[in-house]
Amino acid sequence: MAALMGQMMQMPLMISSLIVHAARHHGDIEIVSKRAEGDIHRTNWHDTELRSRKLAQALARLGCKSGDRVATLAWNGYRHLEIYYGSSGSQLVCHTINPRLFPEQIAWIANDAADKVLCFDLTFVPLLEKLAPVLTSVEKFVLMTDRAHMPASTGIPNLLCYEDLVNAENGDYMWPEFDENTASTICYTSGTTGHPKGAVYSHRSTLLHAYASALPDSMGCSAKDVILPVVPMFHVNAWGLPYSVPLVGAKFVFPGPHLDGKSLYELFEAEKVTFSAGVPTVWLGLINYAQQNDLKFSTFKRTVIGGSACPPTMMRTLEGRFGVEVIHAWGMTEMSPIGTLCKLKASHEKLDSEARHRLVEKQGRVVYGVDMMILDDDETPLPWDGKAFGNLVVRGPWIIENYFKSRTSPLVRVNGQDWFPTGDVATIDEDGYMQITDRSKDVIKSGGEWISSIELENIAMAHPAVHEAAAISCKHPKWGERPLLVVVKKPDVQATAVDLLGFFEGRIAKWQIPDDVVFVSEIPHTATGKIQKLKLRERFKEYRLPTA
Ligand code: ADP
Repeated sequence: MAALMGQMMQMPLMISSLIVHAARHHGDIEIVSKRAEGDIHRTNWHDTELRSRKLAQALARLGCKSGDRVATLAWNGYRHLEIYYGSSGSQLVCHTINPRLFPEQIAWIANDAADKVLCFDLTFVPLLEKLAPVLTSVEKFVLMTDRAHMPASTGIPNLLCYEDLVNAENGDYMWPEFDENTASTICYTSGTTGHPKGAVYSHRSTLLHAYASALPDSMGCSAKDVILPVVPMFHVNAWGLPYSVPLVGAKFVFPGPHLDGKSLYELFEAEKVTFSAGVPTVWLGLINYAQQNDLKFSTFKRTVIGGSACPPTMMRTLEGRFGVEVIHAWGMTEMSPIGTLCKLKASHEKLDSEARHRLVEKQGRVVYGVDMMILDDDETPLPWDGKAFGNLVVRGPWIIENYFKSRTSPLVRVNGQDWFPTGDVATIDEDGYMQITDRSKDVIKSGGEWISSIELENIAMAHPAVHEAAAISCKHPKWGERPLLVVVKKPDVQATAVDLLGFFEGRIAKWQIPDDVVFVSEIPHTATGKIQKLKLRERFKEYRLPTA
């Protein structure tokens, strides 16, 4: 028997509808940007929607056709936002590239995506002078500035001025409606192993992700908020904020390239920022600056921290000293990126402060739309008891089915369903709170038992002398691998390896305590601010542990 069909409108979920909504209902709400040019720029949702339409006209005039890729090498700012909407909204594909990657990687990514137009900030003129000759598909280079800031001469062919392009159009343009499964955006993973891989998002996946991420138990965005994404718009679309902020009609504040503690603090205060998001490394800078200068935040209330494990000490400092709620979140490029966020349930209100802390330090529970499981090596689901740990797999409408241009599916089939293997190892407790133990390739295997490098790092970070710490595996003749702790010390605090190792006593099982500590001046980071464990392991490949 034929099913009775619903009789609701088939209105495709279009990215352009977000900015139309913001312009119509929150038109006068500000968008403030600290520009690469150095000054502060102010606009609002009304004007941003109009300029995005003009940009869509300009891109069409440059010859862009449905599906063509428009790439960006740009900081967080209003022009970058216009490109998000002007490209995706007119059925082009926005491709944000991480400018912190090596130039060869940038070229590889732009060529792989076959970018047709490349828009970039003033900061990147020297980079583009070097790269332009090897970018095989790019036909037009657009410098995201006005005529007055255009350099007199560059080695970049066909260089166009962004403001000239936008100002030449009249904005008489209707956002088109088309299949919501059309590609809207491409992001590449940072490719710590092998070449980066492209995740291709659709209008539908982006809108569903935007709805879910704005919910009170997710990022909890509201029209009353002032939102400053420290996370770059080239790092998985600033975790979706360029979509969820217009969805709710909040004020948007962009820091541009000015990401040091002092610049951020001043912008937070001047623009009365209430909510932010970023990776742990940027918070280190902001917290240090505020602490050293004995400053408080007057409006800042909540922040999402993710991308790598947020050290518990950082959470406790933000909450205890600054009154800022930390929402620990986990996700990945392949997941648009949000998977879990750590918000408490009503039943947790009665927990004592220590138990509450331990809970919010986890990566949290899934938002509706994401489903997760942990599997053992035979792909059998493991119990949710907070103890069993295994390979974390996920599924949902904003999680990739395949990588761009790939012919082999990354998915695994369990109980008749397809799941995406995250490469993370995790536990899940009875309440569904997930905690990442490690990336599977970073796990330390000592005599057949696993030691969580994140747990060791979290303990080390609580020591007053430690600025940053990384735990890696080191070869050991008896145990196979043993943990080695690599530490960057704070400048004015004294501590020896013995002090640090003593600090682990009573905080973790004896056999999990690192065998040694080495002090270094710097720990290498990836282009998205994660510790480069692979590089550290290579550096300490021949290191002889005192226990060996
Ligand atoms: P990249 O930044 O390297 O391009 P992603 O941002 O997609 O890649 O990285 C995703 C990975 O980052 C996850 O698989 C996980 O290992 C790690 N990660 C993200 N958030 C957290 C978190 N809150 N705690 C621990 N690890 C995290």
